[in-house]
Amino acid sequence: KMEDEKEEKVLSNLNELVASIVHEIRNPMTSLKGFLDLLRLNTSDDGEKYFSIIDAEFERLELILEDFLYLSKPPRYVMEEISLVKIVQQIVDLMQPQAIQSNILLMLEHSLVDEYKMIGNEVRLKQLLINVIKNAIEVMPLGGTITITIGYNMDGDIELIVKDEGQGMNEETMNGLFTPFFTTKKQGSGLGLPLVKKVIEEHNGNVRVWSKEGIGTAFTFTIPVDSYKYVMNMPLQESVSLT
Ligand code: ADP
Ligand code: MG
Repeated sequence: KMEDEKEEKVLSNLNELVASIVHEIRNPMTSLKGFLDLLRLNTSDDGEKYFSIIDAEFERLELILEDFLYLSKPPRYVMEEISLVKIVQQIVDLMQPQAIQSNILLMLEHSLVDEYKMIGNEVRLKQLLINVIKNAIEVMPLGGTITITIGYNMDGDIELIVKDEGQGMNEETMNGLFTPFFTTKKQGSGLGLPLVKKVIEEHNGNVRVWSKEGIGTAFTFTIPVDSYKYVMNMPLQESVSLT
């Protein structure tokens, strides 16, 4: 009990520290952005090329800070009844244009008679999906198919699989995958998959990774169907809706 309390204290201090660091970084960013806009007003012709690069970098910084904040926070949001199929379909629709630009087809396969109802948080699950699909798109520069399958496993739990035809991973990457800041990309933050792991654990589920170099990678998410039972035991719950 004492140990738990100690750990909670350490964690909440850490959350506060992260929040204040993010705040301190955002302040100068805001002022930099302001001066950038001023400069832009006073510059002619080919400065625009550099401005758009700077803009894109600002956006990237903002996304990294957001992931960072999310990672450090305890779960404090509403768990409610959702349809997994609906959520995945929305993300597929959202990301299809981006995929098509890279000659990639996003395919969703599921049984038509089931909505795959579960207890969860829509915003967080969407973040999980976006991060995993984004990674898949990034490893398929020559295009191909990303297949998303929703079904039930032998235990009756929901299983969501995201399979790509990318380069696959070597052992070192497989081992580092979920470690914060681990990345093999020049422009990577290494925060995408740690967030994915956190979200699936918040849903009392787990994630397994299969990968073969030169063939592709598959992420399998398992979510207990009677998750509401577990949800009731979750700390820091704001409210639970069961209907
Ligand atoms: P980032 O995308 O910023 O590098 P992530 O946490 O999303 O950070 O991913 C960590 C690393 O895991 C990636 O840099 C990459 O090496 C590896 N990885 C993730 N998804 C895949 C995938 N679908 N295929 C191959 N490697 C992957
Ligand atoms: Mg990523």
